[in-house]
Amino acid sequence: MKIYMNTGGLAATNGYLVAHEASGHAMIIDAPHKTLAPLLDIARRNQWRIIYLILTHGHWDHIGDHQVVTDAFPEAKVLIHRLDEPKLMKPESMFFPLPYRIPARRADACLEDGQTIALGDLTFSVMHTPGHSPGHVVLNCPGESLLLAGDLLFARSIGRTDLPDSNSADMRRSLQRVLALPENTVVRPGHGPATSIGAEKNSNPFLAPPGS
Ligand SMILES: [Zn+2]
Ligand SMILES: [Zn+2]
Repeated sequence: MKIYMNTGGLAATNGYLVAHEASGHAMIIDAPHKTLAPLLDIARRNQWRIIYLILTHGHWDHIGDHQVVTDAFPEAKVLIHRLDEPKLMKPESMFFPLPYRIPARRADACLEDGQTIALGDLTFSVMHTPGHSPGHVVLNCPGESLLLAGDLLFARSIGRTDLPDSNSADMRRSLQRVLALPENTVVRPGHGPATSIGAEKNSNPFLAPPGS
């Protein structure tokens, strides 16, 4: 497996290209505005076919470039959880007018908890992890000890739960679920650097039990 990241847009959001070299199949995780062109170039140079664009959730900073992906790779299926699909159908910020327009669209299919996504012989399980947004998902690839974590868990931080569509009780439950993954699982978040489940269990101040 190969993984590449590029960061951009107004919220410095991470987009990822994940490729299975033997099959030539690849996928993009999240679509920050004006950020994916270098990743699409890497896919083209390697003659990888991007078969999925997976959106961890529908916030504007993660969906801006969806059409850039499908223009370059028309067979790429755009996937999002059904509870966040409405934000893809009506892209906007909940706080301010965006200085650019994100085209509206439906998903090609909706993601569900427990569903698996195959990339060659790699298997990614979809975990529905609501809290930051109701339809937030993460992708867990146990074979590669990799978690694509979106805005659930960051290095020394967690996704915000003060948004109109967030819920802190759901967030606590979702964090407990991913913290049960093996400690050596590498966490690739939607913002900021990579980390691991073990590192966050030991030093993430937002995960400390109440009163400690
Ligand atoms: Zn978000
Ligand atoms: Zn974000």
